[in-house]
Amino acid sequence: MKFALISDIHANLEALEAVLRDIATQHVDSINCLGDIIGYGSDPLPCLELVKEHCDVILMGNHEHAALGHLDQEHLNPVAKVSLAWTQEQLNDRAFSIIAECGMDAVIGNSRFVHASPYKPSEWHYILAAAEADIAFRSFTEHICFVGHTHLPMIFVEVENGTHRRKVGHDFEPDEESRYIVNIGSVGQPRDNDPRSCYVIYDMDTMEVRYRRVEYDIQRTQKKMQQAQLPTMLIDRLMAGR
Ligand code: ZN
Repeated sequence: MKFALISDIHANLEALEAVLRDIATQHVDSINCLGDIIGYGSDPLPCLELVKEHCDVILMGNHEHAALGHLDQEHLNPVAKVSLAWTQEQLNDRAFSIIAECGMDAVIGNSRFVHASPYKPSEWHYILAAAEADIAFRSFTEHICFVGHTHLPMIFVEVENGTHRRKVGHDFEPDEESRYIVNIGSVGQPRDNDPRSCYVIYDMDTMEVRYRRVEYDIQRTQKKMQQAQLPTMLIDRLMAGR
């Protein structure tokens, strides 16, 4: 079984459409979405509909959690607050029902999926530093855990009793003795200095992990965000990919 994993779309319709077109050429059995479909961008409704139509697993991200009113706004930066208020105004009953159905995590075979961290998924911990990765490794038993959230393609390899190495995300074949945390990067707001959309294809039979980078019409997305009067910082960062 081979599946595509997408995350952190952030209401960027052009990016999502480009990624779905690329996935259509990759002969996958299913597409799974690890959350943050909405927030920041100008097309939350079409993105929710496309994800609902194409994805088997759809997980909750912190931006969906916030849209449902479950996240304490004190933890949001000013730009995120503006974007959240704008997004909530756009959402209709249908959108809220799609969001409400999202799970917090999922397991297929020996793989786990979660938006932020397998450690207390609804607390939205970032896995960037060694200590965070160690806690995350102690919080799941599967061979490999796929995450999003930081928008940074990254791989943590558990070598021996809790110790691990961190690497920038790249194609690899996991070995059966080690365990892995794989950050699949972001479709709609990449932050690794590469503005192209990022997603992952995982082949469960060969255990091959492949990162895909896809170009999309960034200027069109930016124009729509300007028309929606979304914060300039959110618009500018798309071209820089950070
Ligand atoms: Zn995100």
